[in-house]
Amino acid sequence: MADIMSATGPDEQGFFGKYGGKFLPPQLEAPFAEIIEAYYRIANDAAFIDELRSIRKHFQGRPTPVYHARKLSLANGGAHIYLKREDLNHTGAHKINHCMGEGLLAKYMGKRRVIAETGAGQHGVALATAAAYFGLECEIHMGEVDIAKQAPNVSRMRLLGAKVVPVTHGLKTLKEAVDSAFEAYLADYQNSIYCIGSVVGPHPFPMMVRDFQKVVGIEAREQFREMTGNLPDAVCACVGGGSNAMGIFHGFLQDPTALFGVEPLGRGPKTGDHAATMSYGREGIIHGFKCYLLQNEDGSPAPVYSCASGLDYPGVGPEHCHFKDTGRVQYVTCSDDECRDAFFKLCRLEGIIPAIESSHAVAFALAKAREMKHGAILVNLSGRGDKDLDYVIENWGVGEG
Ligand SMILES: *Cc1c(COP(=O)(O)O)cnc(C)c1O
Repeated sequence: MADIMSATGPDEQGFFGKYGGKFLPPQLEAPFAEIIEAYYRIANDAAFIDELRSIRKHFQGRPTPVYHARKLSLANGGAHIYLKREDLNHTGAHKINHCMGEGLLAKYMGKRRVIAETGAGQHGVALATAAAYFGLECEIHMGEVDIAKQAPNVSRMRLLGAKVVPVTHGLKTLKEAVDSAFEAYLADYQNSIYCIGSVVGPHPFPMMVRDFQKVVGIEAREQFREMTGNLPDAVCACVGGGSNAMGIFHGFLQDPTALFGVEPLGRGPKTGDHAATMSYGREGIIHGFKCYLLQNEDGSPAPVYSCASGLDYPGVGPEHCHFKDTGRVQYVTCSDDECRDAFFKLCRLEGIIPAIESSHAVAFALAKAREMKHGAILVNLSGRGDKDLDYVIENWGVGEG
């Protein structure tokens, strides 16, 4: 936490190499400037850092353990697989790491309301949790189509006291929800702060969300060294917007450890039903920042698909794009079928039901471990699978044997 503002970028305009920045309508310039100024000031404040540290320990359940998945490793052959158990966070995933940070920032800025959009509802639930904790009002914009698909998360948000605003225009999904949330923020930015759900969006969010997620990598490196006396040979994580991956990668950037970001290949590249932004996207602008983007001929974001609803985003965090270009991180893919296989293996061999998102990273680790033959690979297990049970039972059944 002391190095929360360590010098790993972005530059003053919010660029990581060519990517990132702040492409905003003029009316939003002033509200975002206020957030940037406040973040630089407050994030270095000892009281802020102490309070966040205390929240992580007493409310969230940090540190989360690193676990040696011995049976899975032996059944698989090759390198040993270790899991950073972000699934054991309060609310079941890593998103609470940045939502508690964003909520605390809102409190220090004297705001009384947080506003966000949500797609599958995971960000909405994590933010509603933070808002309840801090006594803030919470307004979540969500497409009508998503509201119908994600009823349990809508109920959770409402139980936590959030107001869920249905978005009824256009395709009634995430893109329209983003526009609607921006509008609500613009209308009330004196009292409100906008809270994004990953390392995406206009500056300062990719930096801020990353800084709040860095705790994952810092803990994991220390824990892994304590367990084994060494560093892992490889670290991998699934990449939707890229926040859980960025969190764990930042613990190992200065090490010889190989880093792998795993993107969802869905039904395969030929079908177009995937969300492998790094492999098949090209430079473009979405939601106020520049990144690799899956896009139509006219530059608009292309429709994307993954069995993991938390991974189906056509853009990706700008710092990831920069790491791809510099070569520090390799970006690879995992199909729905490989993901399903890894999901069942972790259930049966280790007694852990992972999120479908996280199962993408596990699937890559299994293949990589066999290829490596020796050594160790550390997986960021970003979340647990409780939220996915309906999907799993309906589409995959309970697995054979
Ligand atoms: C939202 C989510 C993700 C994807 O988000 P990132 O910002 O890429 O980390 C991954 N895993 C789980 C469990 C999620 O809920």
